[in-house]
Amino acid sequence: MTDIATTTAPIYLPLTAADRCDRCGAAAKVRAVLPKGGELLFCRHHFNEHEARLVELSATVVEAEGELV
Ligand SMILES: [Zn+2]
Repeated sequence: MTDIATTTAPIYLPLTAADRCDRCGAAAKVRAVLPKGGELLFCRHHFNEHEARLVELSATVVEAEGELV
């Protein structure tokens, strides 16, 4: 990690191997933080499935590092 966080960016814990998709239990690749509190973890497959809904909820989506598509 060489990036220096900007003062305005919220800080999220990185995803680890222990983080699992809330839907299927696969390794989580995406963390979605809801504006009204709470967060959801998704594997790539389930993130794609729920992406439209997350956008609708104005969720902040944080992708795991090294998983750029
Ligand atoms: Zn899943």
